Amino acid sequence: MKDTIISLSRKNRTNNFLKNKIQLKCKCGFSEKITYYDFLSGGKFDVGQTTQMVSTYISESIYDETIRVTPLNLSRKCPVCGEEIRAVFPISVENLIPMLQMAPPDPLMYG
Ligand SMILES: [Zn+2]
Repeated sequence: MKDTIISLSRKNRTNNFLKNKIQLKCKCGFSEKITYYDFLSGGKFDVGQTTQMVSTYISESIYDETIRVTPLNLSRKCPVCGEEIRAVFPISVENLIPMLQMAPPDPLMYG
């Protein structure tokens, strides 16, 4: 699972989606922004435990759908105080993988 995410994100490095940023904040006041690409391609994350939850997406035909949600957890040492900074990727694995697979091909392929 983790390897799939790393290789998909590397293949999609030019995808604008991966240029979004996550802010990491430490208790000591240190903060930094890293891109989704850095987060995913660097492999410095753990695939969390899958949980079942009722979808908040409500349509006319489906209103009680149970979905699986697997979080990606990032932890990184604060360069200032050495404490661990934890962050959760804003998109679950189940949503992320199709997003990376749907990504348009690299325009360079068409010359
Ligand atoms: Zn700190």
